[in-house]
Amino acid sequence: MAILAHAIKGHSQTLEKLEGLIKSSTLPKCLIFSGPSGVGKKQVALALSQHLVCEKGVLACGSCGACQRLELLKSESLMMLSPENDMIRIDEVKKILPFLELKQSGRSRIVIIENPESLNLFAANALLKTLEEPPDQTYFFLISSSPWKVLPTIKSRSITIQFSSLADSDLKALLPELADWTLAAAQGQVDKALNVQQWDQEGYRQDAFYVFRSLFENKIRSPDDRIHQSFHNKAAQVALLECLLSLTRDALVLKLGHTPLKTFNPDFEEQIKKQEIKTSHLSIIFQELLITEKYFKQNVDRALALEHFYIKAAYAN
Ligand SMILES: [Zn+2]
Repeated sequence: MAILAHAIKGHSQTLEKLEGLIKSSTLPKCLIFSGPSGVGKKQVALALSQHLVCEKGVLACGSCGACQRLELLKSESLMMLSPENDMIRIDEVKKILPFLELKQSGRSRIVIIENPESLNLFAANALLKTLEEPPDQTYFFLISSSPWKVLPTIKSRSITIQFSSLADSDLKALLPELADWTLAAAQGQVDKALNVQQWDQEGYRQDAFYVFRSLFENKIRSPDDRIHQSFHNKAAQVALLECLLSLTRDALVLKLGHTPLKTFNPDFEEQIKKQEIKTSHLSIIFQELLITEKYFKQNVDRALALEHFYIKAAYAN
């Protein structure tokens, strides 16, 4: 059994500040934890929740019943809402009220909402009513990596806490088995680190580099069998797009020279340098990749979006 706050990597100033607010009983009732995915926002929210429910101290002791139940996510004082199929339904939000009306058994009650941007309008309205006058000792922690999508009416009732990416040393401490090149590509995000590692194991990065090279050798006008076979499912297509974006970005960084920016794929650096690429061609390809990324997010048929990209890229030179 443990004190959750002790396991947090990075964010020490943020955590210290929030702990100070708990000690002085001035923690705002509604906080938005905003920042990149995979940096530990939810872990901080849970650590704060443990502080708030502890039966023994102002901050979590880690060993009382309340602390232990919270660590196991079995606390009667904690309610967690997360989206299903990218949406938090009103039925889910409606469960908050009865939860808050339960006879208080612990010191505080906490509602954690993951991705509050996925609340539909009805659900958001239901939540707003609760946020307007939260009962005593009730806290809402909203966790978002797309805070610009959170409804302004919710934002206006909350205080936003900004999280940044993890330092490489913190990421390495969390995932000690990570290869060093992965650290560069992970950009301080645990989810990215795990993705990149998996894409490497599946061979997607190598294949994406093959596509990348073909783009500049003008061979891509009709993608060959290797490309079709490698990238036939959703996970592979997403991996291809992400890998192409990071390789193109690296090629731009290397072209600019003398830049303080590091490449995301240091293991491909020498091979990228060998390519004869015009900066103007690279810029167009980068823009087209960003457009393709937008199509992917809009659930456009991915194979079609990639074909469209290949054609645009072929004629860009
Ligand atoms: Zn405790």
